Amino acid sequence: MGKPELSQNLPPVTPRLGASFTLHGAGVSGGIAIGYAHLISSARLEVAHYEVAVGDGEAEIDRLDAAIEQVRGELIGLHAAVPQDAPAEMAAFLDLHLMILNDSTLSVVPRELIRNRRWNAEWALVHQMEMLVQRFDEIENTYLRERKGDVQQVVERVLKAMLGSAHTPAPPAHEENIIVVAHDFSPADMILFKQHQFAGFVTDLGGVTSHTAIVARSLNLPAIVGLHHARQMIRESELLIADGTIGVLIVNPDRQVLAEYQLRQSQFELERQKLKRLRTTPAATLEGVPVELQANIELPSDVEQALDAGAMGVGLFRTEFLFLNRDDLPGEDEQFEAYRQVVQAMNGMPVTIRTLDLGADKAITGAQLVGPNPALGLRAIRFCLAEPQIFLTQLRAILRASRYGNVRLLVPMVAHAHEIDQVLHYVALAQDMLAHTGVPFDSSVPVGGMIEIPAAALALNAFVKKLDFLSIGTNDLIQYTLAIDRTDDAVAHLYDPLHPAVLYLIAHTIRSAVKAGIQVAVCGEMAGEVQLTRLLLGMGLRQFSMHPAQLLAIKQQVLRSSIPQVEVLAQRILRSEDSERTRQLLDKLNDS
Ligand code: PEP
Ligand code: MG
Repeated sequence: MGKPELSQNLPPVTPRLGASFTLHGAGVSGGIAIGYAHLISSARLEVAHYEVAVGDGEAEIDRLDAAIEQVRGELIGLHAAVPQDAPAEMAAFLDLHLMILNDSTLSVVPRELIRNRRWNAEWALVHQMEMLVQRFDEIENTYLRERKGDVQQVVERVLKAMLGSAHTPAPPAHEENIIVVAHDFSPADMILFKQHQFAGFVTDLGGVTSHTAIVARSLNLPAIVGLHHARQMIRESELLIADGTIGVLIVNPDRQVLAEYQLRQSQFELERQKLKRLRTTPAATLEGVPVELQANIELPSDVEQALDAGAMGVGLFRTEFLFLNRDDLPGEDEQFEAYRQVVQAMNGMPVTIRTLDLGADKAITGAQLVGPNPALGLRAIRFCLAEPQIFLTQLRAILRASRYGNVRLLVPMVAHAHEIDQVLHYVALAQDMLAHTGVPFDSSVPVGGMIEIPAAALALNAFVKKLDFLSIGTNDLIQYTLAIDRTDDAVAHLYDPLHPAVLYLIAHTIRSAVKAGIQVAVCGEMAGEVQLTRLLLGMGLRQFSMHPAQLLAIKQQVLRSSIPQVEVLAQRILRSEDSERTRQLLDKLNDS
């Protein structure tokens, strides 16, 4: 994406009415974005913000009331249609939504906002929803806290009902000059932004390895998370500078600061352009040791970016993103088409398709996936083994795509050897099903496991015997080793890829895989961090998979590295027990 140019049609850059101030968060995606703030709730709930004409307030309130009434009718109708033998939760779920809809907290304040501030109905409703959601976030009781999702779903229904009667739901013009400001985004929200061309994203909440941040990174746009009160402090259309590398957001910069950042922005862009020269250069160290650099993708359309960056394969296809933002599940044929598209586009290069990693922060619409502790709950392979029909459908779709190229099957979050046995059983079952119906597939698709739970890394012998390859998911490995929720910015400062326990587990996994003669990759965010490339090379890693935007920078680092040299310092870092010393050694490792 090119450098955003401030449009002539947007508010003048200076003088600004608001005072200039700076906010600090965590940069999740490099580069500098300069643009005007656009405040939104979530991609799904993005609504127009405008003032209704004087005297139109009551009509606007009628519009809100009519939508609430329509949704009430819909919910009552759905309730009446619940079959006798349906699970009790179904009726209870509709009762709860009716209760939320009937509660005056959802309608009284929006009416006041329309009447007193002349906000349009959608704006007023979403504003009140955000207030409620924030209050839910503060509740200690997990069950009640999670009911905020129900409030959002009810509001979504009312917004849909209002869709037909909106006045001017115009999307912001000049998206490339817009920096989106939100309290929080789910990964499902974030993936919708792939269809847009905003200059950058900033959010109040979120950790640097949350899936929301990962998708932001894959958009190749500057993004900052964990800014705390940005959504409250920034006003619509204020001029912003977001430095995604260091996590700094400048609101209403003066002329001098703006000029300085415009210069830095063009320098950054120049560096990025220069890297493109390396696209076809084979990735190898100074002494010629080949290193495989592959891409992580979320959607089939990401393949283009992967190929543009010169990726030698897809090291991680996060297939669960095909399941988000929809009310139904993608069937076997639809999945097959998506996988085939990627496999064919990669033209014989390996495509590592990860089976569904649903759960935790990625839930399918309406699914009751969220347990009391989602990251430790029915997530990834645990969910698939509990839902064999969904799993088998996906396995058949993947196997069908396998005959079009070089497919590898990757299983997330394995912790027990018996989980692998069950996976292999289902793979054999899916193969039998296809064979019986005469559908062709590659019968030798390798099956690998993600090492992202410390137990798996520590009990690796049992795994290497059963699996064809390993891929280390450092995002979850760090989350589970250090007991920090990767989506929670309150503990984001404890995220530390250089923690001795984390480094030990990674080094041990690489060593064990090499000894067992099976391939091992890192596909977590560590693989895309230039500061860590030499350390990983020194630990023996020869396969990296990352979001395509980072690939050429990592290649440049590989080309400048010498294995014997990095091995020595990597071993010293592995022996270090002192974090300050570790940092010094890492600087030394990267120095030259
Ligand atoms: C990881 O955990 O490091 C990983 C690559 O998987 P995800 O980020 O999708 O959980
Ligand atoms: Mg993971």
